[in-house]
Amino acid sequence: MADIKKCDVVILGTGPAGLQAAIHAARKKVTVLVLGQESKSSIFHHHVENYCCVFNTTGEDIIKTGRQQAATFGAAFLNEDVLSIAMDEGRFKITLESGTIIGAGAVVIATGTARKRLGVPGEKELLGRGVSYCVECDCNFYKGAEVAVTGNGSAAASGALSMLAYARTVHLVCETLDISPALAAEVRQSAVVLHENSKVKEIIGKDEVAGVVMNDGSRLMVQGVFIELGARGVMELAGLLGVALDDEMKHIQTNKKMETSVPGLYAAGDITGPPWQVAKAVGEGCVAGLEAAGYAKKTAKPSVV
Ligand SMILES: Cc1cc2nc3c(=O)[nH]c(=O)nc-3n(C[C@H](O)[C@H](O)[C@H](O)COP(=O)(O)OP(=O)(O)OC[C@H]3O[C@@H](n4cnc5c(N)ncnc54)[C@H](O)[C@@H]3O)c2cc1C
Repeated sequence: MADIKKCDVVILGTGPAGLQAAIHAARKKVTVLVLGQESKSSIFHHHVENYCCVFNTTGEDIIKTGRQQAATFGAAFLNEDVLSIAMDEGRFKITLESGTIIGAGAVVIATGTARKRLGVPGEKELLGRGVSYCVECDCNFYKGAEVAVTGNGSAAASGALSMLAYARTVHLVCETLDISPALAAEVRQSAVVLHENSKVKEIIGKDEVAGVVMNDGSRLMVQGVFIELGARGVMELAGLLGVALDDEMKHIQTNKKMETSVPGLYAAGDITGPPWQVAKAVGEGCVAGLEAAGYAKKTAKPSVV
């Protein structure tokens, strides 16, 4: 039986936007839970010299210090990826990789952006013609088809499982399954054809995808390739709630209060669009955290993390 937790504000993402949102929300005396893996922030492995008052530092230092600060004000952390999010009787219901379900009065989505590329021949050329970065967006186009999903994390695993409802055959190509034991068991017991210790070396096809070549030279003759590297990202999670996106359908649309089109859902950081900068992420996180705390106080019943 899944563990069900409740809190006032849940923050998806432990990058600069999520951490600043956590700091400001927690100081408003609401219960705050931050979800996600710190080392997956896009700043974690990089040097920063243009962030005000911190002339020369590392992303790792920014993230670790921000996390300590947020914890000092009472925010709780779970180093887990979110698989899905839904509304349930006016509250958010968030399902984690482990199967844990969290209930929340308000949510800040700060999961960053950047669809990671595989960087293999054929990927760029066949984008939109069989190559996709979003199972949730494009699954419908592959009804009855044979498809490959590639990636080692929760995005690929849960994407492959979702595709079973559409495709005739779903291959999951990964070097290793870097996911929770619960999700790994689900994949292994499913009809997904698992290719471990494998990598997609090339995507082939003239006008549309005809297959993939693997690192051992073997081929999978698939009509669709879903590149799902890392955790479930912006489009997927936002798409599950029907959040309005910008004109290019790439980022979440917000107003000055960082409100999205879904009441109680706020967005901050790279996920709302450029410039891709820590300073912008932090500013938006501050607003989103304060607004989310206010919304949760107004609408949700008191609860405990
Ligand atoms: C090479 C490089 C160099 C850069 N250099 C600079 C610089 O010098 N100065 C500067 O200001 N900016 C720089 N940036 C940009 C900066 O990294 C981003 O603008 C900033 O990190 C955005 O913060 P964020 O919180 O929106 O997203 P991120 O920092 O990317 O954090 C996203 C968080 O969401 C989590 N997440 C994602 N999916 C899920 C999920 N399904 N469930 C739970 N959690 C999830 C991730 O694990 C991560 O913790 C650089 C970026 C790159 C790539």
